[in-house]
Amino acid sequence: MFLEENFLKIQNEIGNAKLIAVSKTKPVEDIVQACNTGQMDFGENYVQELVEKQRRLPLNIRWHFIGHLQSNKVKNIISFVHLIHGVDSFKLLKEINKQAQKINRKVKCLLQIFIANEETKFGLSFEESEEILFSEELKSLAHIEISGFMAMASNTDDEEQIRKEFRSLKKFHEKISVIKPELKTLSFGMSSDYRIAIEEGSNMIRIGSLIFGERSYNK
Ligand SMILES: *Cc1c(COP(=O)(O)O)cnc(C)c1O
Repeated sequence: MFLEENFLKIQNEIGNAKLIAVSKTKPVEDIVQACNTGQMDFGENYVQELVEKQRRLPLNIRWHFIGHLQSNKVKNIISFVHLIHGVDSFKLLKEINKQAQKINRKVKCLLQIFIANEETKFGLSFEESEEILFSEELKSLAHIEISGFMAMASNTDDEEQIRKEFRSLKKFHEKISVIKPELKTLSFGMSSDYRIAIEEGSNMIRIGSLIFGERSYNK
């Protein structure tokens, strides 16, 4: 089910921010419907599912990997993935570089930052991400390009809490931008909090259930 009215409304609300349609668990037919309105950026968070969908769908779709990526699965998506949102370790970054080198690609990545007030979510602290960004070793990784940050806010109804978390990332980004202006992408905001995300400076939002309906299984 592709909810075109919602989709158009959200696109209108978010202005120049990029909309990633999160199609995880949804059939390829739904993705085709979204493509027919001009949507070309889709987000998936399971490698197996992404590989299967990529095989069956048009080659000009830009696939965003938004889940937790295990190093041993990088090779399955490296040839076609457009942007890897959830990079949360140097080890993973090195593996992406290694696999991209084999096929002579340069692959864009976002560092996932932990901003939530919860223990369950993946991500780097601000300090850890600075360590990566300013390390000597990063300079030798010619087949990756870190183009920004990704984050998820706490799963809460407390809007002020969510706003505070997004704002902390935006502030960090402003600081980093002074030295690394090429890190332009800020991927935060989902169905429940995208309006706050836009107000707090997100330029890439990832929307699933509002566009494709509730998922029957979830992660
Ligand atoms: C599922 C998912 C989304 C979209 O969630 P909705 O609440 O359905 O909009 C966004 N980002 C990530 C990382 C996800 O896993």
